[in-house]
Amino acid sequence: MARVVASLPMASFADVLNRRPGLQRRLFFLARRFVAGETIDTALEAVAALNADGLAASLDFLGEDVHSEAEAAHTTHVYLDMIDRIVAARADCNVSVKCSAIGQAISEDLALANLARIIERARPHDMFVRLDMEGSATVDSTYRLLERARAIYPDVGPVVQAYLRRAEADVERAIEQAWRVRLCKGAYKEPPSVAFQHMAEIREHFLVSARALLERGTYPAIATHDERIITAVKAYAGEHNIANGSFEFQMLYGIRPERQRELRREGHRVRIYVPFGTHWAGYFYRRMAERRENVFFVVRSIFSR
Ligand SMILES: Cc1cc2nc3c(=O)[nH]c(=O)nc-3n(C[C@H](O)[C@H](O)[C@H](O)COP(=O)(O)OP(=O)(O)OC[C@H]3O[C@@H](n4cnc5c(N)ncnc54)[C@H](O)[C@@H]3O)c2cc1C
Repeated sequence: MARVVASLPMASFADVLNRRPGLQRRLFFLARRFVAGETIDTALEAVAALNADGLAASLDFLGEDVHSEAEAAHTTHVYLDMIDRIVAARADCNVSVKCSAIGQAISEDLALANLARIIERARPHDMFVRLDMEGSATVDSTYRLLERARAIYPDVGPVVQAYLRRAEADVERAIEQAWRVRLCKGAYKEPPSVAFQHMAEIREHFLVSARALLERGTYPAIATHDERIITAVKAYAGEHNIANGSFEFQMLYGIRPERQRELRREGHRVRIYVPFGTHWAGYFYRRMAERRENVFFVVRSIFSR
């Protein structure tokens, strides 16, 4: 089933829903397990519940591939409000931003202007700002934005997608520059010339980067639900006396919630990526395409309504 979903063209799935907000709203129940509501209020309730269980969070306002300045400005405003609300709620939470949602496809200067407003708002609160990584065509541009943003406020960090053939070189650069990296497998469909295609190979490369970051990186985040990687990272940290407090595990909202809490009870730092908003189609599509279990949850939610 996950393969069937993956074979559907993502652009048309997301476009159809994004063009029909009424339909998207009616279908929100499908995404509820993976998306913490459509508003900042519901998202902050989810963050409070996670914080109560000792889990930190990173909030993401859903939306990507924005092609209008007005929409990019709107997303920026939502982030400014989000930062104020996180601070007011004293939540253990930072923000994750997709550059394509704040104007990257229109111009890098526009995206930087919007990003600068976000980081200026985060700066007085020492709030970390994560730049999510998207399709491979945007990676160089996102690094350029990262470097320009860090000249304003250094508490901004990238995501490295381990499936990319360039990932290990990017990790080395990040270590050299003391960038705080989130390491994940990578969620976008990429050709073999750009990205490893087989899970065994992706895991192997993930672990090469994870070890480098654990040994020499700046508070890296190991973002995965993959038990084999989690076990290997824990073992490596134990064998090399890498303290639990010097890295964190990250997982997605609604995926393996029991394991999230178990890792916390084991003494690890754990942060949950919490997406919210009405434009959930692209994010939801990627979750459906990557795991059969995720499709089952959705099918079950249809029948249990
Ligand atoms: C915090 C966070 C942030 C991310 N940010 C980005 C980003 O900026 N850019 C990007 O491209 N991608 C991002 N991703 C997505 C990531 O790239 C992967 O697509 C996604 O995490 C799936 O890979 P995985 O390693 O978690 O597990 P998978 O490869 O999906 O699964 C591997 C194994 O994990 C276990 N597992 C997975 N899901 C379940 C489940 N529901 N129940 C039980 N066991 C399960 C199973 O043992 C399974 O065999 C992010 C992921 C996380 C966790």
